[in-house]
Amino acid sequence: AQKKKWASTTPRVPCTRRALRVFDMTYGVQFGSLWPSIRIGLLSEQKYGALINNYCDAQKVTQELEEMQAADFIWESGKVEQDLDPAAEQGASEPESSSETQTEPSELQAQPPHSPFISISPNIKCYTFPKGDISLFHPARPDMIGVLGYYLLDAASILPVLALNVQPGNLVLDLCAAPGGKMLALLQTGCCRQLAANDLSVSRTRRLRQILHSYLPEELSKIVRITSWDGRKWGDLEMNTYDRVLVDVPCTNDRHSVVEEDNNMFNQMRKGERQMLPMLQVELLVAGILSAKPGGDVVYSTCSLSQLQNEYVVERAVELLAIQHDISIQVEDLSCFRKWFQNTFSFYPDCRLGELILPHLTANFGPMYFCKLHRLN
Ligand code: SAM
Repeated sequence: AQKKKWASTTPRVPCTRRALRVFDMTYGVQFGSLWPSIRIGLLSEQKYGALINNYCDAQKVTQELEEMQAADFIWESGKVEQDLDPAAEQGASEPESSSETQTEPSELQAQPPHSPFISISPNIKCYTFPKGDISLFHPARPDMIGVLGYYLLDAASILPVLALNVQPGNLVLDLCAAPGGKMLALLQTGCCRQLAANDLSVSRTRRLRQILHSYLPEELSKIVRITSWDGRKWGDLEMNTYDRVLVDVPCTNDRHSVVEEDNNMFNQMRKGERQMLPMLQVELLVAGILSAKPGGDVVYSTCSLSQLQNEYVVERAVELLAIQHDISIQVEDLSCFRKWFQNTFSFYPDCRLGELILPHLTANFGPMYFCKLHRLN
């Protein structure tokens, strides 16, 4: 019998095609009749949001964006809340101030009029074009002193940061921080007493430094400590330390995986790494929770639709913490996000734990999964 010459005769299946095949099988079952619409969203041009840099002339920048018909979706969501509940607090409440907080953005704004019972991280402004409008933002321009006016990112990335609800004087850890969009949003709150921004990849932590340099005054950059350690070890390195921890883990990066060959998780060479992802995610989440203070909050997030990387990881981590560390966790209800941000994002209505943003042609953000965990002891 003739030997098959795999390398030369078998056509190479593109990683994007392989990813789509896997998604058709798994997500077809997971999302049923919703899958075709999510699939076409994933394959189409994604929408961006412009995260406003409060450390430049933000008023000028926002005015320009408003002239283009973009609006701050966080502020707008406050109006939705009021329409739904006319008894909700009228007008805006002032953010708490604290002498512990070392830095404040040039203008600490009034808060959008959300329900007084559930709070979200303050001072974050993210502009998007309305549902169905596929206009694009221009790249941000530097101001007189070279600081950039906004940072373009998937607007759904802001939701995990809002859910973390950073408060004045908080010690914050961003365990997997690069390239740094969420780190920048955390800093816009003006609330971090200190921010530890970590990423295993040394080359990617360089991008974190670049962002600090391009967006923040030098004094403020001093509250950020950048490290490139293995996040899984954090539980041993700094136990019971942080008020807030963001665990934005490596995942199958679903949108990237179906459109981009470069650095694709579905490369045959990365099969082992891909299969080990849920395990790595559990370890990172457990480490993140161990490094939070008792009473502290942790947000877990991915940009994948996979239940195995989302709810199952949360469940497994909660279980491990109870068994191995005697630590109890309360998974917080974030369904209010669905109500507040319904005009901007398409939410999956059937998430058991946490919330999931689905790509959709009229609101092509995400996927983004986020779940908030409160450490009780
Ligand atoms: N939070 C980032 C942002 O908003 O720009 C995105 C984070 S990205 C989804 C996941 C990151 O985790 C990657 O930059 C990767 O280098 C990093 N990573 C992978 N394994 C890690 C580990 N064991 N410890 C810490 N970071 C890790």
